[in-house]
Amino acid sequence: MKYAPTKLNRGYANRILNIDLGTGAIETPELDAQVRDYFIGGRSLGLYLLHQATTPTTKAQDPQNPLIIANGPLGGIPQFPGTAKAMAISLSPITGVPGVSNFGGYFGAFLKYAGFDALKITGKANQAMLIVINGFTSEVHLEPAPADDEAFHLQTDLEARYTKAGYQRRNIAFMSTGVGAANTSYGCINSHYFDVTKPARDGGRGVWRSKQAGRTGIGSVMHDKNILAIVVLAEYPHGENPYGAADWQKVLNAGASLHKIVKEVDPQQLKMHRKGSVGLITFMSKHEYQSLPVKNFQGGTDPRAAQICGKHYAEHLFEHRGMDGCFPGCNLQCNKGGWVTLTSGTHAGLKAWVDGPEYETAAGFGSNLGIWSAEFIMEANWHCDNYGIDTISTATIMAFIMECFQRGYLTSADTDGLELVWGNQKVALSFMHRLAHGESECARMAGKGMIELNEWVAKRYQERTGIDPRADLALFAMQTKGLPFSFYRTHRSLSMQGSYAAASDIGAHHAAAWLIKADLLGAFPTFEEKARALMTYPRVRLGNDNLGVCKLPWVDVFNPESAKRVTGDIHINPASQEIYADFYNGVLGTELGWEEIFERTDRDINLQRVMNVMRYGAKTIDHDWIPERAIGPTEDALYETEQEFNDSELVRMLGLDAAAVAATPTTEKRTQLMDQRRKELRKLIQVYYEERGWNDKGIPKVETLKRLGLWEYLTPETRERLAALTCAERCPAGSEPVYAYA
Ligand code: SF4
Repeated sequence: MKYAPTKLNRGYANRILNIDLGTGAIETPELDAQVRDYFIGGRSLGLYLLHQATTPTTKAQDPQNPLIIANGPLGGIPQFPGTAKAMAISLSPITGVPGVSNFGGYFGAFLKYAGFDALKITGKANQAMLIVINGFTSEVHLEPAPADDEAFHLQTDLEARYTKAGYQRRNIAFMSTGVGAANTSYGCINSHYFDVTKPARDGGRGVWRSKQAGRTGIGSVMHDKNILAIVVLAEYPHGENPYGAADWQKVLNAGASLHKIVKEVDPQQLKMHRKGSVGLITFMSKHEYQSLPVKNFQGGTDPRAAQICGKHYAEHLFEHRGMDGCFPGCNLQCNKGGWVTLTSGTHAGLKAWVDGPEYETAAGFGSNLGIWSAEFIMEANWHCDNYGIDTISTATIMAFIMECFQRGYLTSADTDGLELVWGNQKVALSFMHRLAHGESECARMAGKGMIELNEWVAKRYQERTGIDPRADLALFAMQTKGLPFSFYRTHRSLSMQGSYAAASDIGAHHAAAWLIKADLLGAFPTFEEKARALMTYPRVRLGNDNLGVCKLPWVDVFNPESAKRVTGDIHINPASQEIYADFYNGVLGTELGWEEIFERTDRDINLQRVMNVMRYGAKTIDHDWIPERAIGPTEDALYETEQEFNDSELVRMLGLDAAAVAATPTTEKRTQLMDQRRKELRKLIQVYYEERGWNDKGIPKVETLKRLGLWEYLTPETRERLAALTCAERCPAGSEPVYAYA
């Protein structure tokens, strides 16, 4: 299908690419200007398209559930650091609610260069296919995929296919998934691009690299649609102001300012350009923070943390030569990687390039499994990417299984002989291979997700012993809304508990409100400040996902000018936010302050919540909660491991006498502590709802949606359901919601 080329204007291509795999129809409608200006782009635009394409009863596996990839107006502009980000959006097979995952690499930018602000794929193909978007010839077509069920094999095949057709490797970007996405509900999508600067294994130059849209199982949706890869062939637009910015000089100035801050500050602060995000491991493991999950979040620190931390990788495993920005122009260059020799699976013995690990993967496959080997973590990272499965979900589910072994809920008879115990690298890798291929009953159940696995374990244990273990298993099955936890132990950060429970509508993930570090550093000392942070940080963080920019240059590079501010929250790095606002205004031709820009994120935060409410109904509040293990010590021995701190918490929260607390039996103290923590979390969630203009069940009020202007963008069915669900506020007592739509 041929389409007319378009010139970028204010960062937009102003066109969407719709592909219906069921009918074979390919359309390229204009992006409605009103929708564009309201939803901005990226995640927000994707959620709008998802909302329009689905009903409250649509399931992730239904053909009408779209897979959406969307960039944002500031994405793909290499004159500013970190404009690599694009978003994958779909109904999630692991949670059932909208799934959202951001990813780096060139794909989002190339999609824009080829002429599209978003790609929406519906239907299912009847054989494995590739989607090819050719920005050179302005054509879109589908072609049969090679018989590959591993992402890196596919990478080699696609490289050969398109270089043979005359394209340079640097002009090829593609999204892929693999066999693990078919056998789990948490498949990831890899975003592949060719890094011409990195030394190759054979001594030449250039390495294929990949970033992942890891969370919420969007790779499983892609595999279910029978799409193995989406290829974009494109090049950077040429000439002065090729993105159609309203004020190009302002864009250049903003880019130069942030480049300067990053260049001067990162070497003095976190050294992300050497250590990557994995440098966070020892910070989280600090004795006073206890925030690095160890053995399924039972512990929060370990003296071996340095063995899997950024310094170790930087000195022994990362290949520093070349350019480690995941898109040109990012001088933070935290996208680290290196070579490792694989020890397991069908590729054992291969020296493979691994992109990563990032903090999450290192904490997940390292401390949380009781494994302190950097090489093991890199190998696990490679296999997950190759199989197309999310490292975070995989590692959290494996930690749950290992704790089930620890507590006797599972034995090797349940796992076809695998003794999944803490620290056993060989068995952990074997299980990962089985998981990706669905090779045992336990692996297949683990592939379905934490909730299904939990129930399977409970049934087997009950059959064996006659005892129902459900209440105990629920304490440490680390999921919220069905999404396995990412790796922050939250006992010492109430705001992060609120983040996982209620501010992250995709489930237990930190992308919306990564508050833990600022909270540990004392940024939110009062209850009110913690609640406020649940509002303000997601505006910026999710707002970045709407714009197509990376969060790390403001999160991880603290602008010295911010420290000089005397009002407001300096931890949100206001001086750098102002530079982002200059970039935004320069591209879009507006004159907005950074707070105004990011307040607009309330629109899509509310839209996402509305879509969750469509699924959860009056029970929405029940899904805004976290397991006991994320709240505090789930048994006396765990209380005693941190006795001094836990005792001091009781003194602080309940105003008790320290000597009396010290003399109280542990069981009694632990009960008091957990009761109080639950109360505080419940209160925090209620204050958060109130701040957002939601009712006490977590459902957005109609007047809130009208005030935001969102009401007119909701489908009639959604409006009616919402009005009925919130009718208790306006209708006579005792009246029940009534739906016209069944
Ligand atoms: S800061 Fe890191 S993750 Fe963000 S764009 Fe730069 S290299 Fe990529």
